[in-house]
Amino acid sequence: MQDSQGRVIEYARISLTEACNFCCTYCRPHEITEAMAPVLPASFWMSVLEALWLGGVKAVRFTGGEPLLYPHLYELLEAVQKKGWFSDISMTTNGSLLSQQADKLYTAGVRRLNISLDSVEEEGFAQAVGRSGQLERVLQGIEAAKTVGFKNIKINTVVQKPMSDEEVRVLLHYGDTWNVVWRFIEYMPFQGKQSHVPTFQEWKAQLERIVGAPLELVTDRLGFGPAQYFRLPSGQRIGFIFPLSNQYCSSCNRIRFTADGYLRLCLLRDEDLELKRMVQQGVDAQAILHCIEEALQGRYASHDGEAIEKVERPMWRIGG
Ligand code: SAM
Ligand code: SF4
Repeated sequence: MQDSQGRVIEYARISLTEACNFCCTYCRPHEITEAMAPVLPASFWMSVLEALWLGGVKAVRFTGGEPLLYPHLYELLEAVQKKGWFSDISMTTNGSLLSQQADKLYTAGVRRLNISLDSVEEEGFAQAVGRSGQLERVLQGIEAAKTVGFKNIKINTVVQKPMSDEEVRVLLHYGDTWNVVWRFIEYMPFQGKQSHVPTFQEWKAQLERIVGAPLELVTDRLGFGPAQYFRLPSGQRIGFIFPLSNQYCSSCNRIRFTADGYLRLCLLRDEDLELKRMVQQGVDAQAILHCIEEALQGRYASHDGEAIEKVERPMWRIGG
């Protein structure tokens, strides 16, 4: 599959549910009281995934909301595993339910995990996720994932405001101790502009000051995502995802599907195509693919970062 700009699409991100047990300040800062979209059955996603496989997609990431709350998760993963359609199956999770499920995920074919963690201190973590007493559960989840055999676990930290050198050093220390790849994600203003979000250049300069040397760009590919990876003088690898101040649209290889059955062409633009009815009518995978391919011809060359504040869907309804 290619889009209007000749970009080859080989990576799909599927949001399985809008439900979440956290209220992160940058994503869904309040308890959701409005009705959430009902989840779609595993058979719905299997039809979409077959179309994506026919279209040449190699990697699939399940996200949400919190994907571990999707009630048909293992039915879906086992069906995908049986088909053997994709070389890479991954998940982004807040980690809170991982200690009970890491083993099942691995057995069901998930091989790569991104786990969100904004602070390793109880109070900072509670502030970030809007819940107290959760840090230990997430840490146990990371430990469980390592124990069952997940390799190259990535930790996602959203950089919403400047951090002190000491705060960054603590995260780097844990990244090194746990042998995980720590990734820093630029805050995208789905919840309104913040007064000072560090830019890619500022963040890189701070990291270089902390480690006392230029960061060395790692050229080997670590997954299908947009992160740029750097090696610290200690050998530790870290990742940067700064879509606004270090745009990577020209190499964008992915499409997204929302938990209510829409194809979303760009995270940071309201370009959606309703697929739900069509898939539910039982059309074949080739017809779904055709529809996706057509929609890809309407894709813009880049996001419109300045307008994200006004996008209709908040992050938890898109799937980050
Ligand atoms: N619940 C799972 C989790 O938190 O990992 C998966 C869904 S979450 C929407 C996916 C990723 O989006 C997380 O790493 C989260 O930190 C990131 N995210 C959410 N809102 C964001 C924002 N406004 N700017 C940047 N990243 C954001
Ligand atoms: Fe939930 Fe993930 Fe959004 Fe946090 S970032 S509120 S864990 S969906």
